Amino acid sequence: MDNKCQFFREIPLEECFIDKEPYYVPVGNEVEVFMAAYKNRLPVILKGPTGCGKTRFMEYMAYRLKRPLITVACHEDLTATDLVGRFLIKGESIEWSDGPLTKAVKSGAICYLDEVVEARKDTIVVIHPLTDDRRIIPVDKLGVIMKAPDGFMLAVSYNPGYQSVVKDLKQSTRQRFISIDFDYPPADLEVQIVAHESGIGQEMAKYLVEIGARIRNFKHHGLEEGVSTRLLIYAGKLIREGIEPAKACQIAMVRPITDNPDLQVSLDEIISAIM
Ligand code: ADP
Repeated sequence: MDNKCQFFREIPLEECFIDKEPYYVPVGNEVEVFMAAYKNRLPVILKGPTGCGKTRFMEYMAYRLKRPLITVACHEDLTATDLVGRFLIKGESIEWSDGPLTKAVKSGAICYLDEVVEARKDTIVVIHPLTDDRRIIPVDKLGVIMKAPDGFMLAVSYNPGYQSVVKDLKQSTRQRFISIDFDYPPADLEVQIVAHESGIGQEMAKYLVEIGARIRNFKHHGLEEGVSTRLLIYAGKLIREGIEPAKACQIAMVRPITDNPDLQVSLDEIISAIM
């Protein structure tokens, strides 16, 4: 079962509980900080590049806190109505359907808005009353205001690397959250993670992490973003399936991150030097 409840279809709340401990290797004191935030009902921003462990961390924390996890992948067409809920025609009748945010409030779940900056500013505003002392959500269409129970928590993720004037969080939103910084794990931990998640040996994982580190040095030299831990794991999985290691690295770690032929050649050279 996939524990991520992406609301493209209605997923029963029971399925949003994570019953098996997710594999998560703490990198700093993020677990303690999150626990303290939860205890004090503080909303949290997880800040960091894509594929560095933010979602896995949320799954782990939801497991530790024994709360359901409701994840929403934000995008520019996401409306406040999508988050809060709407009336739907069902046969002859009209029924109310909770959006993921309302559902999370009602059930005291952890609501995780992934890539929150992708959502339009007027959509993001609906979370504001949930992020201060009031902890309420006005459901205008039902004419009610719901108060979040103690178990409810709001967390959002944000990739500062993609920051632009058009897509950035307003200060009035930012200053409602505490912020935990995420980054690619240090090499020794990343080796452990890549080996565990892909099923390859430590030696091969070390090579992948070494290549990953060198590719990341190209950030600001033509690369928009470094190669993610997720892609290192993909390379490992291809290798485990018998794909030749250098080829697997090109396919999983170079081609996805750049279309620039010159850059691809330079990155392929890094791979040949190490593999
Ligand atoms: P993000 O949400 O930051 O885009 P993910 O949480 O999906 O990234 O991370 C991508 C993958 O990397 C995860 O599925 C997991 O396999 C692995 N991963 C990254 N960091 C860790 C970590 N600290 N512990 C365990 N696995 C990790």
